[in-house]
Order: sequence, then structure tokens, then C-alpha cells
Amino acid sequence: MESLRQYVRDIPDFPKPGILFRDITPMLANPEALTAAVDAMAVPFVDAGVEVIAAAEARGFIFAAPLAMKLNAGFVPIRKPGKLPFDMHSFAYELEYGTDELQIHVDGVKKGQRVLLVDDLLATGGTMEACCRLLEKCDAEIVGCSFLIHLEVLGGAARLSPYQVQSVLTYG
Ligand code: IMP
Repeated sequence: MESLRQYVRDIPDFPKPGILFRDITPMLANPEALTAAVDAMAVPFVDAGVEVIAAAEARGFIFAAPLAMKLNAGFVPIRKPGKLPFDMHSFAYELEYGTDELQIHVDGVKKGQRVLLVDDLLATGGTMEACCRLLEKCDAEIVGCSFLIHLEVLGGAARLSPYQVQSVLTYG
């Protein structure tokens, strides 16, 4: 899987000075790399009895739908406010400056359903932690969290404890 690393482009000072952005668009544009990435994200969970893949917009969606098809699971979107049309659970969380909020339909995941959470990248863990809180509000069984990339130095995995965290590529 290390060969996938060549498709991740480093962009210094994006979106602001001091941030090294890991740009996965070259990987998404390459059919073999995209397939290999989705396959690798699925591997730890093929026998985990996953019933639902849940992911937050926007980049999480890219991997969630093919993973759902691969694991024979459904897909449930987690969205920013103002996007979901039905009754929803909400969770607000702190950003570096201000707050953000994510939402899920109340009937998106049934009590006890086995859910795998997916995103392209784990940084501080704030986004995925919010997703975990939403799935807990649904009384879901969280099987784990699957990422393409884990920026280990930011310590996000600790915020997702006790859930299983898997990633394909790690950066120190
Ligand atoms: P966190 O909430 O700090 O863990 O940030 C993770 C979210 O921010 C994910 O949904 C990513 O799509 C996005 N993100 C943060 N840093 C990067 C990056 O370097 N490359 C691509 N996406 C990023």
C-alpha cells in the first residue's frame, strides 16, 4: 500500500500559513489507485458484520459509497446544518476558531445496527469524534473508524477511544 503514497500531493501553507495539506485528488483521479485505496480501507472490516457505512460530507462521501457496496452495507450521510430534510440528531463541536455542527437523520441508523465510520483523513479527530457522538445518539454499534490517511502527530486517534481506528497511510 505504500505505493499509494506517491499519489498524495503535499501542499504547503494551505488553507493557511503553516499547514501542510495532504491533497488526495491525484489518487482519486487514478483508477488503479482509487480502487486500491477503497480495497485497503475495507480489508480490516470484511468480516466485521458491517451493516451501515456513515460518513460526513464532503470528502468522506467519496469513500463511503464504494466501501458500502464492497462490504454489502448501506450508506448514511452525516451533513452540515440545512442539508437534511427529515428529523435529525445534531452535535456541535469546537473548531480552532468558532464551532461547527453535524447532523444525521433520526431514522438513518437503527438501534444496535453495526456501523463503520469513514473519512478521507484523520487530523485532530474533531470531525470523527462528532460523528461518533451522533451515532451514539442513534444507539448504533460502532464497529470502528476507517481512514485513508492518519496524521498521527495531531493525536486524533485518542479522541476516538475506545473505538477501533484503522488507516491505510500514516504520516508522522
Ligand atoms: P479533523 O476534524 O481535524 O480530524 O480534520 C479532518 C477533516 O478535515 C477531514 O474531513 C478532512 O477531509 C479534512 N482535512 C484536514 N486536514 C486535511 C488535509 O491535510 N488534507 C485533506 N483533508 C484534510
